[in-house]
Amino acid sequence: MRWLALLLLAAAPPADVVEVAPGTVVRWPAAEIVECRQSSRRSAPLDGACYFPIDLLARGEIEVAIRTRSGEERRRLRVGPYPYPVQEIRGVEEKYVAPSAAELERIRLDQQRTGALWALASARRFTLPLASPLPIPLEGGRFGARRIFNGEPRSPHGGADYRARPGTPVLAPADGVVVLAEEQFFAGRAVYLDHGDGLISMSFHLSEIAVAEGQEVKRGQLIGRVGATGRVTGPHLHFGLRWRGARIDPAALLGEPAALPSAAP
Ligand SMILES: [Zn+2]
Repeated sequence: MRWLALLLLAAAPPADVVEVAPGTVVRWPAAEIVECRQSSRRSAPLDGACYFPIDLLARGEIEVAIRTRSGEERRRLRVGPYPYPVQEIRGVEEKYVAPSAAELERIRLDQQRTGALWALASARRFTLPLASPLPIPLEGGRFGARRIFNGEPRSPHGGADYRARPGTPVLAPADGVVVLAEEQFFAGRAVYLDHGDGLISMSFHLSEIAVAEGQEVKRGQLIGRVGATGRVTGPHLHFGLRWRGARIDPAALLGEPAALPSAAP
């Protein structure tokens, strides 16, 4: 359900604490916004609204604020209970469930390189909604699922898994720069794009990578092809988004905000 991932804030009275689901994006439209703030992090408005990404593993309360020409308004967001179901996955190659010491070291190095990307803060180069990462309808998803691989609980699903035949083109969701393009233990052949304003897109399990690190890409440009590399049980595209460090449901930024039922307060 695409619209569930994007929550409109304007309808809530100022005194209320607004409950939000982890992994969603809160959109707060207002006239003449000067600046947006989420906890201590400041950002610029986008298309007449402030956007506040809520991390999949966030808990507790988060203060958000909007500064307009007439002053500052604040709201408190309370992260609600974890809403995503359990997903059992069987038939995963054993090394992905019980990695050896050498594989654990490789996983650590992969995480070190990708972790360095979440703090990137280049100028925004994307518009919303993002372009689809596939030239076919997006089916599947299962963002946030608490996953059990071969009976062993593992970290929740930080992206969406879209069904596609091997070799299907994978496209850049927006203009950006290739900040990482390599084969990783879990992600397989992977492309990470920096779209500015802290938005990083990830395309995993590719059969081939069509871009190189440091390369500039345009919205809709071919960056690779769907495959089955890394921890998979079959070919699909894992597409993930981190926005200002937060793991969010890609559906929140792939849909048309104007078409959301919640957009009419
Ligand atoms: Zn996935």
